[in-house]
Amino acid sequence: MIELPPLPYAPDALAPHISAETLGFHHGKHHKTYVDTANRLIQGTDYEKLPLEEIIRKSAGKPDDKKIFNNAAQIWNHTFYWHSMAPRGGGKPDGKLAEKINQDFGSLEKFIEAFSAAGTGQFGSGWVWLTLAKGKLKILATANADNPLTHGEVALLVSDVWEHAYYLDYQNRRADYLATFLDKLVNWKFAEENLVRAGDAAKAA
Ligand code: FE
Repeated sequence: MIELPPLPYAPDALAPHISAETLGFHHGKHHKTYVDTANRLIQGTDYEKLPLEEIIRKSAGKPDDKKIFNNAAQIWNHTFYWHSMAPRGGGKPDGKLAEKINQDFGSLEKFIEAFSAAGTGQFGSGWVWLTLAKGKLKILATANADNPLTHGEVALLVSDVWEHAYYLDYQNRRADYLATFLDKLVNWKFAEENLVRAGDAAKAA
C-alpha cells in the first residue's frame, strides 16, 4: 500500500508564487489520484509488496505495466517536487553545490539559463531535473512520468512542467513560472543534501 505523503509545508506557504488553490489541487487531487490508481493497479500483483522506487525500476520499459509505471513514477516525482521548493526559497546555493554548479555549468547564471531553456523546451507534459550523472551535474528533461531513476542518474532537484503545476497562476506562461521557481521557490538545501548523499553512496560502493 503506497501512502500519499503530506505536503512538507502549508498549502498557502508558497503564495503568491504558487497559490494555495494550485497546491491544493496539485497535491490533494493530482498527486492523490496517482496514489489511488497505483494502489488499485498493483493490488494482487508482484508489485504489491515492493517499495515505490522498486516498482518504478521494475515496471519501466514494460509495455504491459505502462500504467503502473506512469502512476508510480508520478507519485515519486511529485513528492520530490514538493521538497524541491521551500517557503522563502530561491536565493543562491552554497557549499558543495555552489562549487559543483560553477564547475559543471560555468556559473549559477548559466545553470539557470540552461534549466529554464530545458523546461520551456520540453514539448507537452514533463519534468525538468538537475541530476548527477557519472559524477557530473546535468540537466535532464523528461516526458510525462519519466524520471532519472530510469536513466541511471541521481535526482537532485525537479520542477514540474505539466500545465496543472502552473496554469491557475500563470496560464500558458511556463517561462514565467520557471523563472519564479528558480528565483523565489527553489530549495537549494534539498538539492545539496541529495548531492552529498550521492557522494557518500558513491564512496560506500
Ligand atoms: Fe504535477
